[in-house]
Amino acid sequence: MTELSGLQIFKYLPAAKKLEHTNCKQCGFPTCMAFALKLAKHQTNVDKCPYIPKELEEIYFQSSKQPQKTVEILGVKVGGENVLYRHEKTFINKTALAIVIDMAKPDWKEKFERVTNFEITRVNEKLKIDFIITKNGNIEGAISYEDFQNLPLIKITDENFENTSKELVKIRRKAILEKDENYSDPVYVYFRHTEDLKSLCAKASYYLCKYANMLVFEDFDENLITSLMTLRQNIFTDPQKPLQVESKIYEFNNPDENSLIFMTTNFALTFFAVANELESLSVPSYLIVIPAEGMSVLTAWSAEKFTAKIVADTLKKFDFANKVKNKKIIIPGLLAHMKDELQEEVPDFEIVIGTVDAFAIGDFVKNLNLDNTKSKNL
Ligand code: SF4
Repeated sequence: MTELSGLQIFKYLPAAKKLEHTNCKQCGFPTCMAFALKLAKHQTNVDKCPYIPKELEEIYFQSSKQPQKTVEILGVKVGGENVLYRHEKTFINKTALAIVIDMAKPDWKEKFERVTNFEITRVNEKLKIDFIITKNGNIEGAISYEDFQNLPLIKITDENFENTSKELVKIRRKAILEKDENYSDPVYVYFRHTEDLKSLCAKASYYLCKYANMLVFEDFDENLITSLMTLRQNIFTDPQKPLQVESKIYEFNNPDENSLIFMTTNFALTFFAVANELESLSVPSYLIVIPAEGMSVLTAWSAEKFTAKIVADTLKKFDFANKVKNKKIIIPGLLAHMKDELQEEVPDFEIVIGTVDAFAIGDFVKNLNLDNTKSKNL
């Protein structure tokens, strides 16, 4: 049973049934509706209203039960999911990726080093293997295979793709939709060894999407793990919270007071696209990042999160006018229509229209004549 909404709860309360105690305030809220909305968010308790029917108490208890348990392994939380689809709310704990190290094998030390040294950075996030499971011995900071097997987890061995994928869907549906306690433990898929890398990658990716809480590999392949981490980062990003970077002035190639000045939003993907281009240029530059709630350039503009006033406030906050002699700010080409408005709001600077796409920044800079940018519209 999915969680009750405020409206569903309200239907059981005196106000909906036009009974004697309608909006009596004994629960501490001005109306039955206000109480129902708070109860739906678990911000109050059922026993605050003395007139709640037994039937609602039971339904509320059932619907509030956590569908999937959370298990913590060496500080990594696994499971605890409440929904089938990310767009319903969000996923809670990303699919953990674990590697088995068999210490009876002669090359275990080399494998251990490869696993512990493996790290990728993507969209400003450092990604590493979540934990190591050891067989035939123990390593500090790892979990032994015996201890791992004693955890309340459902194990599926990857023998047959069709069966495994069906089993994963069945378990998640039973846990979330029926709140069936027989299926409420987090689930992991155990891959015995690396076969054909392409099919392994395809299968592991599918299980990551639907619905493994953890993937455990006996073999370690950097390319496979890199692909899975990239996919995982996309799936487990909260859709209601866009990836964003800090709003500040970033520096590339040791800029000074005469260096180029670019501007963009704090949407992580936009930022990294621009930052990568600026970093690879041999010219020093600044990048002013506007606090646009993680929205991309045009979305931020249409939502009034990238306005002339916000730009002026950002420059003021960092006292940027006093730090540079070059007073030309290159704005994203998509905001060309804002040029006059911006110019008026930040009279200390000259607004120059830059490129629509980040990849064109290199050519833009090559063609840029800083004494002649006033009329340039590239
Ligand atoms: Fe409504 Fe119950 Fe609150 Fe009274 S105590 S206002 S009946 S919810």
